[in-house]
Parts: sequence; structure tokens; C-alpha cells
Amino acid sequence: MKGIYSLIFDCKGKIEVGSLGEKRFEGTYCYIGSARGSGGIKSRLGRHIDLYKKKRDVRHWHIDYVLPNSQLIGYCFGQTEKDKECCLRRSISYDMTIKGFGSSDCNCSSHLLKINYFKKEKIIKGFRKCEINPKFERIKDDE
Ligand SMILES: [Zn+2]
Repeated sequence: MKGIYSLIFDCKGKIEVGSLGEKRFEGTYCYIGSARGSGGIKSRLGRHIDLYKKKRDVRHWHIDYVLPNSQLIGYCFGQTEKDKECCLRRSISYDMTIKGFGSSDCNCSSHLLKINYFKKEKIIKGFRKCEINPKFERIKDDE
């Protein structure tokens, strides 16, 4: 199952984000990604969560540097064969932050969004705007 996903997490402090260098984090963030490879979305999310739980430490994407130092709130994902990652980035109308984060392959300034006030419904609405029916999994209970 190919698709797109978003990871919602809290993060605070300075982190060395691979090629982007050291960045300062403070607050709640939403990362937008897509899984179009053979393993699909379940394997990609599993990979992210293993990194978060420090069960693996092979870092490939920018988000991989941030997750082990974050508190994951939840993630949302939906199936699509189409390239809708940037549509989702636009539809979830939070501000982009950290130029170049997760957006090396597209024209977006960033695929990392800064959330002022987290509402699950806002994320779900963003997926629906891109004609995807998502599933939201909560990790941390703090709404
Ligand atoms: Zn993009």
C-alpha cells in the first residue's frame, strides 16, 4: 500500500539535522512524507517508529534525525497511488518551517510544519482535501 503520511510530534532543543546543519526546535510539529517504494506506507511508518523508539539508528531522511529526540503525539496516513505529498503539505495549513526539510525532491520550501495548536481534525481535513481517507493513530494522549 503506497500512500502519504504525517507525523505529529513535540520537540525542544538543538538538533543536528544531517545536511541542513544544527536547527533549533521548540513546540509541536507536523511532518509530511510519502511512501512510494515497494515496502509501502506500513514499512515506512514502522521504520520511523523504530527510530523514534531508538530500536534502529540508520538515518536516511531529515526527519530521522529529529524523531529520536522528540515526543511523538501521533501519526496519520492514507492510501494513494498518486503523488499527493505536496497537496497534503498545502492542505494542512500550518506554516512551513526549516527551509529544505523533507523537500529536496519538490518545490515546497519545507515539508515540516509548525503547529500552534494541535487539532487532529485539522490534519484529517487536510487529507480529505487531497481526496484521501486517512487513519489517525494516537501515541501520546494530550489533546
Ligand atoms: Zn513538496
